[in-house]
Amino acid sequence: MEIEVQLTGIPIAEKISSPQLAAHGAWLEFRGAVRDEENGVKIFALEYEAYAEMAVREIRQLLEKISARHPCLAAKVIHRIGIVPSGEAAIYVGIASRHRAEAIALLGEFMNGLKQGVPIWKRRALPAETPALRPVETARAESPDKAAIKSLDGAMAEIHSRCQALPAVRAPLTEALGRVLRETVCAPEDLPTVDRATRDGYASLSNDESEKFSVVDTLHAADWKPRQLKMGEAVRVATGAALPCENLRVVMQENVERNGDKIQILRREDSLNIRLRGEDVKAGQPLVKSGARLDAGKLALLATAGCTQPLVSPQLQVVHFTTGDEIVPPEQTPKPGQVRDSNSILMRGLLQKFACDLQHAHLPENFEAAKQLVETFNLQPSTFNLLLVSGGASVGDKDFTRSLLEWLGFEIGFSQVNVRPGRPLIFGVNGNRIAFGLPGNPLSHFVCFELFVATALEKLTGGNPRQFGRGTLAVRLEDAPNPRETLWPARLDVAGLHPLAWASSGDITCLTEANALIRVPANRGSIDAGTEVEFLPT
Ligand code: AMP
Ligand code: MG
Repeated sequence: MEIEVQLTGIPIAEKISSPQLAAHGAWLEFRGAVRDEENGVKIFALEYEAYAEMAVREIRQLLEKISARHPCLAAKVIHRIGIVPSGEAAIYVGIASRHRAEAIALLGEFMNGLKQGVPIWKRRALPAETPALRPVETARAESPDKAAIKSLDGAMAEIHSRCQALPAVRAPLTEALGRVLRETVCAPEDLPTVDRATRDGYASLSNDESEKFSVVDTLHAADWKPRQLKMGEAVRVATGAALPCENLRVVMQENVERNGDKIQILRREDSLNIRLRGEDVKAGQPLVKSGARLDAGKLALLATAGCTQPLVSPQLQVVHFTTGDEIVPPEQTPKPGQVRDSNSILMRGLLQKFACDLQHAHLPENFEAAKQLVETFNLQPSTFNLLLVSGGASVGDKDFTRSLLEWLGFEIGFSQVNVRPGRPLIFGVNGNRIAFGLPGNPLSHFVCFELFVATALEKLTGGNPRQFGRGTLAVRLEDAPNPRETLWPARLDVAGLHPLAWASSGDITCLTEANALIRVPANRGSIDAGTEVEFLPT
């Protein structure tokens, strides 16, 4: 049987063309429209959600299974997702068969099966007395892409392709921590530049087996006094001192007896006690490669090489708005129903490794009042790079993040990702400015930052792309199969990955230990200890 399945965010067309095979028999069409009432309440629309890829697969399999009993020629199924106003079709089914009775039987069984096994569901009914929602929600259903739920890979790929690296700048080392190096810096000379003593002691020719030596000079760490030592000669050296010539060894002063300008070696160590010229790195070798994020160690190496104004990513300008009238500052004792703000400090901490200038404000839950507050920020091009809004990313009555981003001129790339925790995740682009609406729950917040915001930050700064690694589960991961991909907080140590306990995206205790997110495939369920899994270091 020829099968065509579509999920769409736009109204199903009035007229659907029948497949050519329909010419060989009957063509039966069915449209299921949304009624104006749900559970006794008047509604103006229903919202449908779906796991898109899986739903298409399941519909196809269902049709194939039923057609074994009721052979038909072709079937075409279109399911609308997102907001479907009452009176409009949520589903269209067209069936071509040799005999009409077969098509009717197939349709009946298909509609029953659809309710049971296919991951498309009514997310909510919109009561008739909330007309204020209509314009935004209707607009939302207009584009099929925007209504669709993104897969994790799809969302990361879209962020990657829509964010462009910002132009690089030269910055002093004191301002370069956390920025991305945008040029490969090579060693201008051997490091160390000369042989240096690693002990306080006496230097002599390495092949000089004499027991007694004349001390011909004294070298401190800052001295540079080249001379060729002869057999029987030694120089007193301090740790770090540049040695006067090559092919020496240093005997620790503890193993030497000194009388005036004479010494006697009591014992020679196996080690030469010398850092040899170029033993750390040779002239011309790359020291730090372009794309590396500069941490303390890399900055120290650049300083050693005299690279004091490296070419780096610019300091990012980030604006963060928190939302929710139930949110109170952490200093305040919450009344029943109130919640202390943890996302502001969480975001500040997560952004720290990316070298950002951060401005923050808490927005009132009244959209008009929120817009007025937002207007006090300068959100023009070139004044900021990234806008983050915590909370209100879903489609509740008071959730305005999406509308706020659209009001600010952001084109919404997607607004849901098929991951757990953290499904409502809005990604918007306005020129070279990027915006994210993040779910307010702390664990979702953390996961969405690590998966999506950090991906954008790496791209904006020209850093190496974020990638999943592979590791071994130290203990069993207990989970019921879930239709969404799960990012499971974990602690990674020498024994492997330890999944941490969490029950809801509102949980926060696991964040104290989490340094990795294990990627659990959709519908996988528990995973045994010792299994190799994908994970994202955080
Ligand atoms: P929302 O995404 O706005 O629906 O919020 C989801 C949950 O996250 C709610 O229980 C909020 O109270 C909580 N939440 C939102 N913002 C914050 C915040 N800044 N700090 C802690 N929890 C928050
Ligand atoms: Mg909220």
